[in-house]
Amino acid sequence: MNKQQINVDISKADDITCENCGNYTFQEVALMKRLSPLISPTGKEAVVPIPTFACNACGHINKRFLPITPGIQEADEQPMEPRLKLEK
Ligand SMILES: [Zn+2]
Repeated sequence: MNKQQINVDISKADDITCENCGNYTFQEVALMKRLSPLISPTGKEAVVPIPTFACNACGHINKRFLPITPGIQEADEQPMEPRLKLEK
C-alpha cells in the first residue's frame, strides 16, 4: 500500500546537453569552495566540496548544474542566501 513507485518513461524525458558543445554525457565533478575563517562555522578555514556535473567532452559545467555560482547572478533568480550566519 505504501509502496510508492513513480513510473517515469525516461525515453520521454528531455536530454540535457552541454551548453558549450552539445555533448550529452556528463561526469561527476566537485566544485571546491573555500570558507574563510570569518564565515566558517568552526572559525577555521575550511574547504567544502560541492558535487556537480561537467561535460564529459569539453569539461563545461552547465549553469543549471551550479547551485552556487560565484560571480554569475541570474537577474530573475531569487537571492537565496546559502551564507552561514556568524553569530557573536
Ligand atoms: Zn561540452
